[in-house]
Amino acid sequence: MASPAPATRDTPDPDFAELLARRPHLTAHAFDGLVMDDVPLVQIARAVGTPTWVYSAGTLRRRHAMLRDALRDAGLTASIHFATKCNDSLAVLRVLNAEGAGADVVSGGELIGARAAGIPADRIVFSGVGKTRAEIAQALAEGVLQLNAESAEEIEMIAAVAAETGRIAPVALRVNPDVDARTHAKISTGLAENKFGIAYNDAAALYARLSSLPGIRPVGLAVHIGSQITEGMAAYRAAYARVADLARALLSRGLPIERLDCGGGLGIPYRDEIAPSPAALAGAIKATLGPLNIPVMMEPGRWIAGPAGVLLASVILQKRGAAHRFVVLDAAMNDLIRPAMYESWHGILPLAPDAFHAPRAPAEVVGPVCESSDTFARGRGLPDLPPGSLVAFLDAGAYGSTMSSTYNARPLAAEVLVDGARWAVTRPRQSHEALLANQVVPDWLGSPA
Ligand SMILES: *Cc1c(COP(=O)(O)O)cnc(C)c1O
Repeated sequence: MASPAPATRDTPDPDFAELLARRPHLTAHAFDGLVMDDVPLVQIARAVGTPTWVYSAGTLRRRHAMLRDALRDAGLTASIHFATKCNDSLAVLRVLNAEGAGADVVSGGELIGARAAGIPADRIVFSGVGKTRAEIAQALAEGVLQLNAESAEEIEMIAAVAAETGRIAPVALRVNPDVDARTHAKISTGLAENKFGIAYNDAAALYARLSSLPGIRPVGLAVHIGSQITEGMAAYRAAYARVADLARALLSRGLPIERLDCGGGLGIPYRDEIAPSPAALAGAIKATLGPLNIPVMMEPGRWIAGPAGVLLASVILQKRGAAHRFVVLDAAMNDLIRPAMYESWHGILPLAPDAFHAPRAPAEVVGPVCESSDTFARGRGLPDLPPGSLVAFLDAGAYGSTMSSTYNARPLAAEVLVDGARWAVTRPRQSHEALLANQVVPDWLGSPA
């Protein structure tokens, strides 16, 4: 199989010091090595083993607050609904709930998780292009803040479920603004050709239809144009401007709009990308939607949680191949799939203090899974990493653990939350027994000899 793994880049990779300088929760200590907040990561790796996800509570709080403050400073009335698909750890959700964040969920399972973490139903948005009748009924029974509807067909389904259950469904229309977010094709959602949202030209008529349906309360418009958006504010502005035009047209027809959901998608610098700031995003919202004077909502995922997490891994061995040095880790694409799926770049730092100043040479960093795409990095400048050496993948707090699988019968990795100088295992490593536990072999196949 051809390997889609990390493409070569034009600029040199940032060095260890540059990676650390942009990540205030990570520091390199002369004795403790790589430290997250006040906890040496070596300590966690030794106690819990690897691979292990580690999240910084302080970073989650700080980034949520930065976004909230940027929206407030722009003069907006805004609420933040964390997209739990990027990180659904109950501990992470509890940290954000305590900060006042709501949730954006895309399945019944995520709704259960958000509620289990204590997030009030009236701070939860239910998004997604294919909600089942059961999920719609569940959302209405919970009393979620709103369902973001993505098609005329779904609106009829919601109306039917509302009628059956005798509830009123608060519904926002997710509009497809047909703008190019200029992100990776697999995470672009705001083009007319994408499966997401209601065609812009159909939205006004559909919103009018919403208000005519018993059992539905139209609450507003939503837009989400993609993820990992780093190319300035142009795409956001274009999308919000179209939403503003639509909102004005609806208001002039006397249709109610309680709030405008601005989606998520704000990108982060994984390598050397110049990612837009929360202030720039807030400014774009203010300039386009602000004049309407309607409360706005945001559904950020990656921007809050991505930088807050690392994935710890151990070196199994260094293989001196014909053309390359391969650093073979005990973490693999089943744990962190982003490089295989999106050609994405993750910083890789050694945990040991001496490794920071050792000479570096190019290495192919790979996992043990039987796929060539199980490649985390190519030609990465890394020191000699003998078996047992520990490394951390940076910015693994979003779309990391939640995208894991057990491919190659590899148990799900452990999860840890660091909070200042405290840390705790928030999900123990899955056992091999648990991997087999819910399988059933039919009687007629007999028992193993
Ligand atoms: C995934 C998703 C988000 C979050 O996207 P990020 O890029 O992680 O900020 C927000 N809203 C919707 C509807 C989504 O599907």
